Amino acid sequence: TTMLWNDRLVKEEEIKLSIEDRGYQFGDGVYEVIKIYNGSMFTVTEHIDRFYESAEKINIVIPYTKDVLHKMVYDLIEANEIVNGYVYFQITRGSSPRAHAFPTPTPEPVFIAYTMKGERSIEKYEKGVKAKFVEDIRWLRCDIKSLNLLGNVLAKEAAQQAGCYEAIQHRGEIVTEGSSSNMYGIKDGVLYTHPTNNLILNGITRRVIMSLCEEIGLPFIEEAFTTGQAIDMDEFFMSSTSSEITPIIQIDDNIIGNGKPGEWTRKLQAAFDARVQQLGSL
Ligand code: PLP
Repeated sequence: TTMLWNDRLVKEEEIKLSIEDRGYQFGDGVYEVIKIYNGSMFTVTEHIDRFYESAEKINIVIPYTKDVLHKMVYDLIEANEIVNGYVYFQITRGSSPRAHAFPTPTPEPVFIAYTMKGERSIEKYEKGVKAKFVEDIRWLRCDIKSLNLLGNVLAKEAAQQAGCYEAIQHRGEIVTEGSSSNMYGIKDGVLYTHPTNNLILNGITRRVIMSLCEEIGLPFIEEAFTTGQAIDMDEFFMSSTSSEITPIIQIDDNIIGNGKPGEWTRKLQAAFDARVQQLGSL
């Protein structure tokens, strides 16, 4: 398949990455994942904006304008004829002899993008999934979509070892977010989710959900809740680019609500589907 290596569309075999790339040695870089529905990128502007924001927070200067990067990624999707799937891209600080501090002179950042084919996992959306509480042991800049994902990796692995689809991370009693998703509880007709600060990623799907809540008349309250409150919610769900809105019907041994995806959650899913249908061309 075709991939992007810096600003060039190349065959995978042509890509040469250095052992001393700081992404490889330090996780020193940032990334994005955008979902492609019927040949169009969903919320592409928001993802590209967040990519530049994440890069800026760690002082990586992306050597393209947003428009050029958008065009590059568009051309990649076209080259690979992706109808439904994903585009992944990342940028690292570049390559330099191994030393922790930023290298001088500043190396050329290394940009890579590739596509994946994939259909929506309808069964998960309809039946819901189980989740596991996992202590949030990550650093204090979870707002950066960093390549350093070890905490997230360990959380997801712990969930999967327990037969669960996702981890619900908590710092002390406070529920923060999933290993690669945001978390929401609904109680007495009100939706609660952790506020966007340094402890969670400001999800693009979360922003879509905020707008869908307004559309369907569900109050969206950015207020943290505890693990104890979480298991007492009427409905619970997670969101991400890949999982969209996935109901959570059980947390550890606790059944949420009646153990089926809730009414509000299903309304949100329907409103989300309608947004996807509205997608124009790229
Ligand atoms: N939180 C974390 C830690 C993530 O990695 C992700 C996405 O992968 C999300 C939340 C959800 O963000 P988005 O809706 O932009 O995919």
